[in-house]
Amino acid sequence: MSAKTHDVYAMLEKLISCQSITPDDDGCQDIISDFLRGFGFEIKTIEKSGVRNLIATYGSKRPRLAFVGHTDVVPIGEIDKWSSPPFKLHEENGVLFGRGTSDMKGSIASMLIAIEELLRLSKEINGSLMIILTSDEEGPAIHGIQSLVKDELKNTKIDFCLVGEPSCKENLGDTIKNGRRGSLSGSLEVRGIQGHIAYPQNARNPIHLFSPVLQKLINQEYDKGNEYFPPTSFQVSNISSGAGANNIIPGVLTMDFNFRYSTETNADKLKNTVVSILDNEGIDYSIKWSHSGEPYLSRNSELLDVCSRAVQKVTKKDAMISTDGGTSDGRFMAKICNDVIEFGLVNKSIHKINESTTLDNIVMLKDIYKQVLQDILTIKQS
Ligand SMILES: [Zn+2]
Repeated sequence: MSAKTHDVYAMLEKLISCQSITPDDDGCQDIISDFLRGFGFEIKTIEKSGVRNLIATYGSKRPRLAFVGHTDVVPIGEIDKWSSPPFKLHEENGVLFGRGTSDMKGSIASMLIAIEELLRLSKEINGSLMIILTSDEEGPAIHGIQSLVKDELKNTKIDFCLVGEPSCKENLGDTIKNGRRGSLSGSLEVRGIQGHIAYPQNARNPIHLFSPVLQKLINQEYDKGNEYFPPTSFQVSNISSGAGANNIIPGVLTMDFNFRYSTETNADKLKNTVVSILDNEGIDYSIKWSHSGEPYLSRNSELLDVCSRAVQKVTKKDAMISTDGGTSDGRFMAKICNDVIEFGLVNKSIHKINESTTLDNIVMLKDIYKQVLQDILTIKQS
């Protein structure tokens, strides 16, 4: 069968043709809604401040499995550097190029065709299925899944949640995520007294005052991590001071830093530790915090077992279980569901020029998703 006649390819081709750069959905969710409506899904479209969200539901029984993802993509960057138009799926020797192929329209196309194949086997499923999509995952992510969880999904019992983000590193099936670290950033300002460098007795040098404190912040053990998470890490991303002349002691030092933190601590504990280190040194300072994501972890996840088995069956490989990488919408779903995992395509080319996946991978992913749906919703193959 040539690539172009494959169902997953055809679906992906349609999705890629939508120029859905955050938060503009550009008709992508309409294609998905029309497709799912054809199989009897109930469709709910929710617009929030220019963001398009879709909740599609099939059945009302438990267990309820939700597939969560996003139809938006990151900007294309310099178009001249693309070897083919980014919003036209282009195939070359089984490799499929286009913005969103891996992150994450390929995964959505695989899930849609998995559902189609499954409901052809049986319209009766022992449970229910939800497809939850947003056009704001790559952007501020405020009016997307976060908002649905607080509002439209607040009273919905979801037993299992599969986030279709590209979780794999090199090959399809090499990694499943069962959690993510939290992220807390701080902007610190340390104040000294500016003066002539020849008269240090009349000045207070914020660089000198702060350097031993920086060492303490770096050496501090914030936690030991656990089975699933490495120890929380403190990293400085930027530090600056100086008045621009070599005969001046500067009056201020500023530093930006970030914690990627495990489930062994929380944002308040981290803030308190930093503040107490600074207070103990008697430093004149102020900090602005920004908390961009809480961590989550699905312990003893049944969905993880089911997905690992499906990966084994289709790819003949054992998946590694990981919590690394940036934040994802899994953090929001974890507020209403105890069993959230992330599994999708290979993430090597995501957000890059010439983003790509392969036909083999989207077809295998479709088979893995189909197996997961079958196992969770106990549909017997006829
Ligand atoms: Zn993504």
